[in-house]
Amino acid sequence: MSVAIVGSGPAGFYTAEALLRAGDDVRVDIIERLPTPFGLIRAGVAPDHAKTRNVIRAYDKTARAAAVRYYGNVTLGRDVTLDALSEIYDAVVLATGAPRDRSLAIPGADKTGVYGAAAFVGWYNGHPDFHDLNPELNTMAAAVIGIGNVAVDIARILVKTPEEMAGTDIADHAAAAIHASPLVDVTMFGRRGPLQAKFSNVELREMGELADACPMLDAAQLPAHGDDFLSDRDRRMAERNLATLRGFSTMAPAGRRKRVHFCFFSNPVAVLGDARVTGLRLERTVVEDGRAVGTGEVFDIPCGLVLSAIGYHSDPIPGVPFDEKRGIIANRDGRVAPGVYVVGWAKRGPSGVIGSNKPDGLDAAAQIRADVGAGGKPGREALELRLAATGVRWMGYEDWQRIDAAEIAAAAPGAPRRKFTTIADMLAVLDR
Ligand code: NAP
Repeated sequence: MSVAIVGSGPAGFYTAEALLRAGDDVRVDIIERLPTPFGLIRAGVAPDHAKTRNVIRAYDKTARAAAVRYYGNVTLGRDVTLDALSEIYDAVVLATGAPRDRSLAIPGADKTGVYGAAAFVGWYNGHPDFHDLNPELNTMAAAVIGIGNVAVDIARILVKTPEEMAGTDIADHAAAAIHASPLVDVTMFGRRGPLQAKFSNVELREMGELADACPMLDAAQLPAHGDDFLSDRDRRMAERNLATLRGFSTMAPAGRRKRVHFCFFSNPVAVLGDARVTGLRLERTVVEDGRAVGTGEVFDIPCGLVLSAIGYHSDPIPGVPFDEKRGIIANRDGRVAPGVYVVGWAKRGPSGVIGSNKPDGLDAAAQIRADVGAGGKPGREALELRLAATGVRWMGYEDWQRIDAAEIAAAAPGAPRRKFTTIADMLAVLDR
C-alpha cells in the first residue's frame, strides 16, 4: 500500500508512525512545501522552549524508517495536484495544519504595525514565508490581543533580554530587531476574564520569572475563586491561573525596565491611527453565561504595534471541500473523499497540544487500513517521474540532514542552531 502524507508537522508524522505500526506492507511518502520538515515544531514552538522540540527525535526515527521517504520543497497544487496524488497513491492524508491567522475583523486592522501571530511567530522563528515581515518595532508600547498560549509566547519573546535569548534558536533578524526596539510596555488583552483565559499555568508562571520584565495586573479584575460552572478539571486549572495572577498583582518592577500588563474584560473594537498604528480602542465587557458582552464603555490605549493572537485557520485546497465557518477542511471524522483523509489542525481546528495529533494519526491509519485493503498503486516511483517532468527540485531527508548539520555547525555558543531563513540559503547548502 502506498500512502502520501501532505505536511510534515506533528499530525503528518504521527500518521506516518501509526501507518508503519499497523503493518509492514506500507510505503509512506511525506510531501512538504518547505525544504525543512516538522511544521510548527520548527516554526511555531517558541524559540526559548527548546525542550518542547525534543519530539523531533521521534519524528526523525520515523523519517529514517526504510518504508518512509521525504519529499521536501514540493507544493501541493503547484508542483503536484491532489488529483495526481490520488491517481498515484492508494491514500492521501492532508496534514496541512492551520497556517493562516484568523482575521482581526475590526476597523483599522489593515494599518501598518498590525500583525497576526502566524506571521509574527513565523518571523521570529525563521519561517521563510515571513523573512521579510520587518515588523514595526520602533515603539515603546505593544498590544497583544488574545490570552492563549500563543499570546503569552509573543509577549514573553518581546520582553526577554538578549542574555535570556542567547541560548535559543530565534532567527538572527528577529533577535536584532527585538533587542534594538525601545519597547517597554506590552499589554495582553482578553475579551473575557481570567477564568476563561486559554493560557496554561506553566506558560503563565514563566512571565513572573523574567530578568528585565515584570507582570502587572490590577487585582480588581480577579474573582475570589473559580467558576462553579466549570468542570472539575477546568476549575482546577482556572484556580491555578488565578493564584499565579494574584501573585502577579502584588509584584513590583524592582528595577526591571519592562512590563507585561494583563488586561481582562477588554474587547478590541478599532485600531487607531492614520496609515500606521497609534493606538487601540477597546470596549469593556462583562462575562455572561461564558460569553463576553459589551458594556458600551470604551477606552483607548496608545501603542505602535498590535499583535493579534486570536487563533488560526487552514488553507483551502483546490478541489477539496472547505468548512469556511470553522476554517478547516470539511471532513467526517477525518474522511474527506474516497481515498483522501485529513488529520491535525486541518481536521479539528487549531487547539490542543502537540500530542493531541497522535489520535488523529491512529484514526487515519485505521481508516486507511479498513478502506484501502492491500492497495497496489505505484506511489513514489510515479511521483518522482512527475516531479522530474515538471522540473521540481525536491529534497530528500538526507538533504534536510545536511541543512540541519549546517545550521547546528553555524550556531552561536550555547545556542542549538542558527536557522536558515530563506529557501535560497537552504538550497545553497546543498549546492556547496
Ligand atoms: P487559543 O488558545 O484558542 O487562544 C486564542 C485567544 O484569542 C483566546 O483568548 C480567545 O478568546 C482570543 N480571541 C479569539 N478571537 C478573538 C477576537 N475576535 N477578539 C479578541 N480575542 C479573541 O489559541 P492560540 O493561543 O492561538 O493557541 C493555539 C493552540 O496551540 C492552543 O491549543 C494552545 O494551547 C497551543 N499552544 C500551546 C503552547 C504551549 O503549550 N506552550 C504554545 C503555543 C500554542 P476567547 O476565549 O474569548 O475566544
